[in-house]
Amino acid sequence: MSSPQEAATTALFDCQSCGACCSYSAEWPRFSTEDDAQLDRIPQKYVSSNEAGMRCDGVRCSALSGEVGKHTACGIYELRPDVCRACMPGGDDCLMARRAHGLPIV
Ligand code: SF4
Ligand code: SF4
Repeated sequence: MSSPQEAATTALFDCQSCGACCSYSAEWPRFSTEDDAQLDRIPQKYVSSNEAGMRCDGVRCSALSGEVGKHTACGIYELRPDVCRACMPGGDDCLMARRAHGLPIV
């Protein structure tokens, strides 16, 4: 059972009501350690023209739906790139992205 403080932290860093790291930089959702089989499963419409990462509209990943800071979802959650998996709620990258969107970090 989590402490009240842990529960509050979990609620704060709820990715489904955030999406800040998915709408932070076009340089963010890049491919890195995936193998070809992993990358082949990502629908081409979400892949950038140079195939180096996810296609972004401005700073926003094209696979992100919803409104940042309210309700969001990743359209390829099970297939998302490794960099997306590495961004842990409450971690440094998460805090940087949330700060950029003016979302609470404490
Ligand atoms: S910025 Fe943090 S809380 Fe928001 S979606 Fe990314 S990992 Fe989740
Ligand atoms: S692939 Fe999914 S988790 Fe990764 S940046 Fe795009 S919307 Fe976010």
